[in-house]
Amino acid sequence: MKKHYTFSTGETIDADLDDLRRLLAENQQYLDNYEEVYSSLEDDDYIARGNGFCDRKYSDDFIEGQMEKYAQRVKEINGWIENDERMDAHQALKLLKEGNARFVSGQLVPKDHYAEDRLKLSEGQHPFAVVLCCSDSRVSPEILFDQQLGDVFVIRNAGNVVDEDVLGSIEYAVEHLESPLVVVLGHSSCGAVTAACQGGELPGHLVDIAKRIKPSISMDCCIDDNARCHAEHMAQLVRENPIVEHLKVTVMGAFYNLASGVVEWM
Ligand SMILES: [Zn+2]
Repeated sequence: MKKHYTFSTGETIDADLDDLRRLLAENQQYLDNYEEVYSSLEDDDYIARGNGFCDRKYSDDFIEGQMEKYAQRVKEINGWIENDERMDAHQALKLLKEGNARFVSGQLVPKDHYAEDRLKLSEGQHPFAVVLCCSDSRVSPEILFDQQLGDVFVIRNAGNVVDEDVLGSIEYAVEHLESPLVVVLGHSSCGAVTAACQGGELPGHLVDIAKRIKPSISMDCCIDDNARCHAEHMAQLVRENPIVEHLKVTVMGAFYNLASGVVEWM
């Protein structure tokens, strides 16, 4: 579908994503050649020899201005493409659900292109989702959502608790990496939730983790229901974060079943 775009120079175009890519390629080529054309100009005889400048005279200022204009144009088209390709929370959630279905069925997408991905990703990251989950070795989000390098921004600690450091990481991901979706993922048989449910004396800093889980605990519920409740409670804390709220980021609680591999969404 074509959209209407306005350049900062005032020109307008109607283009779809393919048109934008073509325009970008054309203008980038123009810009590359421009250096060559510009440096080939002879003193006091501003005749450019290519790219539409044939047989016409241009002043130095005009040529500098054109260069700036094309640089700006490339920047704008790049931005439009990036915006169009940035997904929303609905699409991000769909990818996670589809990935988990592949994981459950064992029909995983091939992972034989890491070398290529590494090169591409060394220039930057645009993870489409943030996942806060337990450090439990059986709950690896990239694996259970069948995602690739660079797809998911992962924050982990025992019991998937929300503290200042976690909120800072989430703020970074939603604000600077523009991830549209945050998932707080609890799981079955969680040791941290079990410890919080059992109460009693806990050694060292486990006390701090339990302290953040206890408000979610109901003695009438089983461990797994408490883990569900805790994930949703942590999701609510993330929703109340001013940056998350301001950017209208979607936050969802979820629960991973260790035996079946299925992620339930709340
Ligand atoms: Zn756990």
